[in-house]
Amino acid sequence: MIVRTRFAPSPTGFLHIGGARTALFSWAFAKKHGGQFILRIEDTDVARSTPEAVQAILDGMHWLGLDYDEGPFYQMQRMDRYKQVIQNMLDAGSAYYCYSSKDELDALREQQMANKQKPRYDGKWRPEIDKVLPTIPEDIKPAIRFRNPQEGVVVWQDLVKGRIEIANAELDDLIIARADGTPTYNFCVVVDDSDMGITQVIRGDDHVNNTPRQINMLMALGEIDGAIKVPQYAHLSMILGSDGQKLSKRHGAVSVMQYDDDGYLPEAVLNYLARLGWSHGDDEVFSMQQFAEWFDLDHITPSAAQFNTEKLNWINAHYIKQADNAYLVTDISKRLSKLNITIGAQGNLPAVIDLYKERINTLNELASSIAYFYQKPVFDDAAREKHLTSEIKPVLATLLSLLALIDWQAEAIHDAINEVVNQYQLKFPKVAMPLRVALTGIAQSPSIDQVMALMSKDEVLARINFAIS
Ligand code: GLU
Repeated sequence: MIVRTRFAPSPTGFLHIGGARTALFSWAFAKKHGGQFILRIEDTDVARSTPEAVQAILDGMHWLGLDYDEGPFYQMQRMDRYKQVIQNMLDAGSAYYCYSSKDELDALREQQMANKQKPRYDGKWRPEIDKVLPTIPEDIKPAIRFRNPQEGVVVWQDLVKGRIEIANAELDDLIIARADGTPTYNFCVVVDDSDMGITQVIRGDDHVNNTPRQINMLMALGEIDGAIKVPQYAHLSMILGSDGQKLSKRHGAVSVMQYDDDGYLPEAVLNYLARLGWSHGDDEVFSMQQFAEWFDLDHITPSAAQFNTEKLNWINAHYIKQADNAYLVTDISKRLSKLNITIGAQGNLPAVIDLYKERINTLNELASSIAYFYQKPVFDDAAREKHLTSEIKPVLATLLSLLALIDWQAEAIHDAINEVVNQYQLKFPKVAMPLRVALTGIAQSPSIDQVMALMSKDEVLARINFAIS
């Protein structure tokens, strides 16, 4: 049997972290088993679905590199098929017309609530052997309900949560088409999973309650088609924020694309998501190819996973260190231009990036850390006060005159600093720190002679001059 998984987002918002993890796990499961991964856009909630959200999902999938073998399929384009299946179910007796009016159903509900009963359909229009149905009212357009079995239980071996059993008595007859003819959510999922030959449904555990209803409908469809196709289910626990609350806008990132804006590499986000609720021993850093080889559903934790930005930063830092320099140059140029910084031809960007890429967690941090190479530094007042003292200014003045005479290379720069250090009998940092502040605006930087060698001589002299005057 060929494995076929799907990711089936509703386009009512961005592709968020939870959705991206569901997509990643479905993708990896298909890859691992040499199967197919399908993208299906569940856009039947017309009031809440938007083309922008569809695009945001496609963009998010593309940015992450989660390629699909089939799709995107759009449920709104499959209406004829849903109508045909509804007709088949009516013909087979697994669905029936329900003429209960809204007022009637509201009154029923109120009465049940008042009696402390679980609100449910009373089965008024459900056909039974020897049952005489009420006379069909003329003014009511009927909804169509699924004739859910009343006896027995629905059982499935959830691939994450283990065995789950629900009594059919708990499930009432679900509306599968509204009075206006539009098919409902659970029904469309069932028709699609069946038509698309989905073998494993991997999705968030907010859908656990839908599963027994979906299994019953799949069984009914199977009886009509003569081939029952019930997939296996794996319900993933939700992702919590670092405060233990459900992950939400409050935790920063709504959309995976926000991570792009914030300076995360897609490889890092994927690697981080892969470990969010799944493990392979102590392995933390691995490629997606490796992940697809290792991935299984047995090592998914049934408990909720907690989002940890520090860990994401750590993984991101790792991928930035490993990143191809040409890629970083293009990316960082874009981020600098967003900061209104243009790099001249003498920009030395590859070397500047090399100097900094082991020191930062995000691409944004990388861009802002090196901004001083391309514009006047922004001074940290405390650092200026601490390091650019009146005692050190004459030392820097001496250094300035020495630097003016040398060949502009790291070694010669280093020698010039050493000469001043010796002349004034100071420790190296006593000179290096004020120099850092003068050139970069802050007291932390990579080795200062390397920084200086990457700037133009004129610029270094001008900055020291400015700092001591
Ligand atoms: N469209 C549903 C959602 O976005 C997912 C349905 C499913 O995976 O079965 O939550």
